[in-house]
Amino acid sequence: MNRASLKHRLTALFLGPDTSRHKAIGLTLVVSLLYLFHTCLTIVAVHSDHAWPGLGHWLEACLLFGAVFFYGMLRSGLSRHLRDPDMFLAQLLYCIFAACIAYLTVDIRLRGVVLAVLPVVLLPGQFTLTPRALRLVSHVSVSALALAVTLDWLIHPQQMDVVADMAQWAFACVIIVASSWVAQRVSELRLKLTSERESLSSVLDEVQVIAAHDPLTGLINRRRMQELLHNEWIRKDRLRQTTTLVMLDLDHFKRINDEYGHHAGDEVLRNFAELASQTLRQFDVLARWGGEEFLLMYPGTKPEQALIALERMYQRLRAASLLPTYPDVRITCSAGVSCALPGEPYEQAIERADQALYRAKTSGRDRIEVLVPTCLPNPVT
Ligand code: GH3
Ligand code: MG
Ligand code: MG
Repeated sequence: MNRASLKHRLTALFLGPDTSRHKAIGLTLVVSLLYLFHTCLTIVAVHSDHAWPGLGHWLEACLLFGAVFFYGMLRSGLSRHLRDPDMFLAQLLYCIFAACIAYLTVDIRLRGVVLAVLPVVLLPGQFTLTPRALRLVSHVSVSALALAVTLDWLIHPQQMDVVADMAQWAFACVIIVASSWVAQRVSELRLKLTSERESLSSVLDEVQVIAAHDPLTGLINRRRMQELLHNEWIRKDRLRQTTTLVMLDLDHFKRINDEYGHHAGDEVLRNFAELASQTLRQFDVLARWGGEEFLLMYPGTKPEQALIALERMYQRLRAASLLPTYPDVRITCSAGVSCALPGEPYEQAIERADQALYRAKTSGRDRIEVLVPTCLPNPVT
């Protein structure tokens, strides 16, 4: 077994199969080391008779239970239903509890170790907690330690050394407040980076939509259509299907601009796009190919089937007014229909559709012409 597969197996064993939870479970294991450290100190204290008589074993059990409990909750996925699924704030507060118990139970000479490790609790928090939660953890640390010192005076009055204990407590507080300040700044920076990344990604989504669409009609543009054609040609060749393309061009459109203005022309283009889109099935695609030309793709559809759908569009176009301010103005459209042989590029089908459109224009406009590859039967137009 090589190193990579051993690492993979160990990761799956300790962190579980759900990779989205790995970061939280990994941090839990790191934090577990902190309370396990305090637990070990407590266990040593209990076995060297420094702990409160009778209470020592309960403390051991309680601290060990915490270490197993948090890992178990995250690893099993049970914490997923909680408000804070990473249980991170709870874990840090538990760490403080473990440190205070260790402070009360360890030999007086080992207290310095407990106090030195206490501020470390704040460090993992900077990667997951908000600055507010970190402030709470530091306040709880300072208060819990003060409570531990007071309790120690009540339980072990014979060991009481007010000056030394207060000096130790004040030293620990300074370190906790300083660590908390750094952790809060890091946490703020992390939140700022996250929000900037989110807004960048939403801007990127918007840019992608803009880059793929025509702003006037809202249809996809020529560039996006070329991508779709490329994919569709691979798909239809693999499945041995026929895909039909239709080149549509509005008749005498220049006259609309000349007689009613460019705005009216724009309105006609918008209304035509909307009307044509309404006649499409789920997988048919209409793109603005350029100017007053539109390219229509009927995936997995033979030309004779596409003609039925196209005829439906023509009927609606004949009944509609694309320029509501001048309801008598009738807009017509010419269409060239084609497809490609298996293995032929889509550009070939577009070329043929263009030729068919030219034929429709020269034979009087407002009509559909079909030009399919020579080995396919030409459907009736
Ligand atoms: P034919 O029947 O032969 O297609 O004639 P036509 O007048 O439709 O074709 P022609 O190519 O002579 O003119 C197309 C016009 O479409 C010219 C151009 O100004 C206009 N046009 C292209 N894009 C737009 C647009 O976005 N908005 C408007 N209002 N007009 C446009
Ligand atoms: Mg035209
Ligand atoms: Mg044209």
